[in-house]
Amino acid sequence: MAQKQILVVEDEQPIREMIAFGLRRAGFDVREAEDCRTARAALVDRRPDLMLVDWMLPDNSGLELTRALKRERDTRDLPIIMLTARAEEIDKVAGLDSGADDYVTKPFSPRELIARVNAVLRRSGPTDENETIRFDDLTLDRAAHRVMVGDNGVPLGPTEYRLLEFFMTHPERVYSREQLLDRVWGGNVYVEERTIDVHIRRLRRALEPHRYDHLVQTVRGAGYRFSARTER
Ligand code: CA
Repeated sequence: MAQKQILVVEDEQPIREMIAFGLRRAGFDVREAEDCRTARAALVDRRPDLMLVDWMLPDNSGLELTRALKRERDTRDLPIIMLTARAEEIDKVAGLDSGADDYVTKPFSPRELIARVNAVLRRSGPTDENETIRFDDLTLDRAAHRVMVGDNGVPLGPTEYRLLEFFMTHPERVYSREQLLDRVWGGNVYVEERTIDVHIRRLRRALEPHRYDHLVQTVRGAGYRFSARTER
């Protein structure tokens, strides 16, 4: 497999170097940028496989950069992980719908960061319609259209199945009700946003006997997220 390239956009040099060092040791090809302008220039030069973008940058906010890149055709699919200084900022980032694929709060260990980078790279790759998606003992068999926990089937209605399939293929990211309507129901149908809450409740109830209901998380003021992490 070709070496994956990561562009690190962070103005604080010691942090940037620490990140770059950890990533290089993990086998990534790393480029560094200290502000939005340099990051833009680096993108024109060569498109990386993933970007790490700090929230506070000297010339513009990392949030603005992320939103802009997620709007542009050439960079829309480029995975971005935002680095934030405080946990509360994660809610803000999510609420503002920056389009970031994940968020990491400082301080973080190189190991944690690399785990997140690998997770985002994995799910941004091409998805196989027939693959089986696993989370712990929870498996979703896309070929058979079946959800199991160990040997036990989890009975789900068609909408709950599609919701779970979407969540399991897009973990760790907050989706607003509107985005879920678009992605799970398809943009054309008329469904009230509170209908989503009903299906979320049904999905949680089906997962509850297996103790996986906590994976479907409500993010106040923002929407829903599928995550094993309980911190907010
Ligand atoms: Ca900064």
